[in-house]
Amino acid sequence: KNLVIAVDGPAGAGKSTIAKLIAEKLNINYIDTGAMYRAITYKCLQNNIDINNEEEVIKIAKDCEIDFKDNNIYLNGEILKDEIRTMEVSNNVSNVAKIKEVRYLMVDVQRNIGKINSVILDGRDIGSYVFPNADYKFFLVATPEERGKRRYKELVNKGYDVNLEEIINDIIKRDEIDSNREFAPLVKADDAIEIDTTGKSINEVVQSVLSKINI
Ligand code: C5P
Repeated sequence: KNLVIAVDGPAGAGKSTIAKLIAEKLNINYIDTGAMYRAITYKCLQNNIDINNEEEVIKIAKDCEIDFKDNNIYLNGEILKDEIRTMEVSNNVSNVAKIKEVRYLMVDVQRNIGKINSVILDGRDIGSYVFPNADYKFFLVATPEERGKRRYKELVNKGYDVNLEEIINDIIKRDEIDSNREFAPLVKADDAIEIDTTGKSINEVVQSVLSKINI
């Protein structure tokens, strides 16, 4: 049977860093579901679509074929890297992700991947909606300041000229939209294990996740 591990939580809580390392340790696939919503958003911005025009966004989403190879995301066959991590994409992605039809399309892809492979997915609704019967569910949290600082360092290391306050504001705003949307909002599943990563090293969090998993 395929193993499915869900890692959810607010923006910048360390989900992708941790999920990637767990995937390596367990030799399973890693799926960054946030990258999927970012890819749609990127495509909309490229096509000068008004993000508030749901019909247009849905049309774009239907034209997007998303897949993953070696932990990389591909949009219509083309690899996507840092272009989906810009502030412009970050500032718009939650308004794309709140559209139910867009989510249906993405969730379909995610469930199909879970049918074929053992996988760890990070996102907002993996344990609560996409895979309610996941083998393991984790919910990572940290203070907005700590999450902002992590994102800031990440982006600076990639060579972006960014502003810490702007990043913290983006994180808070996204969490608010993600938590309050009508369909499949950001929420801790009842049976998810919550881990507060504030002040913890990456290795400490990885160890505490691994200690819960017995395979
Ligand atoms: O994980 P990341 O911060 O890259 O996600 C970007 C955005 O994608 C989130 O703020 C949220 O709006 C959306 N998202 C979502 N459901 C997921 C993963 C991400 O709505 N499972």
